[in-house]
Amino acid sequence: MRQRREFLARLAAAAVAAGFPAYGLADSDRRGTTSGGSGSTAIALPTTGLAGRVVVVGGGMAGASVAKFLRLWGGANVKVTIVEKEPRYISNILSNLVLTDTVTMAALQFEYTTLKSAYGIEVIQGTALAADPTGGRLTISTASGPRTLDFDRLVVAPGIDFEYPAGLETPAARAAIVHAWQAGPETLTLRSQIRAMPVGGVFVMTVPATPFRCPPGPYERACVVADWLKRNRPGSKVIVLDANPAIAAERTSFERAFSVTHAGIIQYVPNAPVDFVDVGTRTIHTPMGAFRGDAVNVIPTNIGPALLRDLGIANAPRGFAAVNVLDYQSTATDRIHVIGDSSSTTQPKAGHIGNQEGKVCADAILRAFGGGLPDPSPVTNSSCYSPITLSTASWLSAVFAYDPLTKTMQIVPGASGEATRANSEHFKDMQVWFGTLMRDTFA
Ligand SMILES: Cc1cc2nc3c(=O)[nH]c(=O)nc-3n(C[C@H](O)[C@H](O)[C@H](O)COP(=O)(O)OP(=O)(O)OC[C@H]3O[C@@H](n4cnc5c(N)ncnc54)[C@H](O)[C@@H]3O)c2cc1C
Repeated sequence: MRQRREFLARLAAAAVAAGFPAYGLADSDRRGTTSGGSGSTAIALPTTGLAGRVVVVGGGMAGASVAKFLRLWGGANVKVTIVEKEPRYISNILSNLVLTDTVTMAALQFEYTTLKSAYGIEVIQGTALAADPTGGRLTISTASGPRTLDFDRLVVAPGIDFEYPAGLETPAARAAIVHAWQAGPETLTLRSQIRAMPVGGVFVMTVPATPFRCPPGPYERACVVADWLKRNRPGSKVIVLDANPAIAAERTSFERAFSVTHAGIIQYVPNAPVDFVDVGTRTIHTPMGAFRGDAVNVIPTNIGPALLRDLGIANAPRGFAAVNVLDYQSTATDRIHVIGDSSSTTQPKAGHIGNQEGKVCADAILRAFGGGLPDPSPVTNSSCYSPITLSTASWLSAVFAYDPLTKTMQIVPGASGEATRANSEHFKDMQVWFGTLMRDTFA
């Protein structure tokens, strides 16, 4: 217990390191804290002497974070606009628990109200289409027609897209067999499909090849669905078809969960990439055999969104964007920064990391507006809680620091760790962590 408290204290220190930049502000001018919580009243932004225009594409975990901290640290003359295609954000984090009715969809919805009214961020509902980095112009489509927005810096944070396997080419096939890897209507479809399973039924799910968003996420999904089936559809099975040779995250925790906690229910099959999905018979064909389910969940290969290709910055494997992790500027072009799941770094594709990258990026842009260079030694941290049953969870945390030799973010030895056992205390901590992270991002 003492060890864990010390570990969490180290993490808190790392979070502060990523959370408070130095622009020569007096302490009294640093109005932001990592808990935000300003409601809808406009907050008094600091006077920094900095000025510039930043357009952010995507109001998710990374985009909302960079927008908020640009204003909070940069002050009123740093104009920030978010272009987001959806009217509100639905959190992927905790969305596996919607499948089991432990969490409601309503609890995962976040409005842009506070970013607008408290921080003075302009939020435009629209879709980014193209950009001219040299001229500093972004073209977007909106319900009322196309628009162009001028920027000094463009931050791109559109998350991920999917490369579907054979058999899931058509919209009808994709409506029948969903991934629910972007929380929203598909989450509710999958929930209904699990509910429609008979007693003694089979749930088949797939895990894509790495890298994918939320490395523990698919294994966590297998665990909570197994626990729900145990209680509500006795005799049922969960088959996990993993494209990878082994569990890709929190291996010790999930091996124990699969072989002890959910023994006889979860069947784990490694080296099983999807060859073909037969939608009619709900059968998944893999090199390890064909697996038929009463409910089937295919999580396709995660790829960079088409927007990255359209902007000419999809220069990392699978169409993600290579970046300089000191400022998250694209290595393909100046003035465009890429954060969150769209960027290719040594850090996991996770919401907590998206929030941290947003802060490092905001800090670097503000330093550039002041004529300076990025912080040469950024530190980020990521925590991930994984429910193992409907009332217990495990956790994994990592601190990353910039390594000037490899020019990458590397795990800090001794400052990272994972839970030795899943328990109900960690499940409660998970709810506190989620609330804090989402307030830090949207409030
Ligand atoms: C089931 C599940 C569980 C997870 N659990 C955890 C967890 O416990 N901890 C954790 O840290 N992470 C977790 N994650 C991962 C986390 O949700 C993602 O890593 C995170 O959301 C990435 O943030 P982002 O800002 O890059 O992308 P997103 O949060 O997906 O935001 C991207 C935004 O961009 C918008 N957009 C896309 N294209 C355009 C465009 N052209 N124009 C305008 N807007 C656009 C989208 O509408 C979206 O709002 C989980 C993910 C899943 C699927």
